Amino acid sequence: MSDLKLCQGTKCHTYHTKDRLKGIKGSKTNQTRRRSSFYYGKGNFCSLNCQNDWFNDFGDRAINHFGRLEQAKHLTEDNAWVKDYDYDWRAKDNQHSNWRSVNKVTQEQRPMTEEQYNNDEYTLNTTE
Ligand SMILES: [Zn+2]
Repeated sequence: MSDLKLCQGTKCHTYHTKDRLKGIKGSKTNQTRRRSSFYYGKGNFCSLNCQNDWFNDFGDRAINHFGRLEQAKHLTEDNAWVKDYDYDWRAKDNQHSNWRSVNKVTQEQRPMTEEQYNNDEYTLNTTE
């Protein structure tokens, strides 16, 4: 059993690289890349090229499926909260500190815990 996953790029197998050439000697084929992790597209693509190929083939359908933006969004006090922290490159262990919410409209800052920082659900925003 392996935990390897396949690149989701629609044309990944069409790019000629040594590492894509797999199989028994004499009958090797260019194959979709398989790795334990990928850097692109939240771990779904082996390269920016493959991510772009996927978007060119499916991007419009994906946007329509999840809802195409029809009106401009506005940045207001209610949706301007972003997360921030201080980074100390001199410290050995605790390089991050002073986790906080910062309102990009009012510049108000409110402290938060590291757990809240890492929690994707946690936000002070009341509208999108
Ligand atoms: Zn790929």
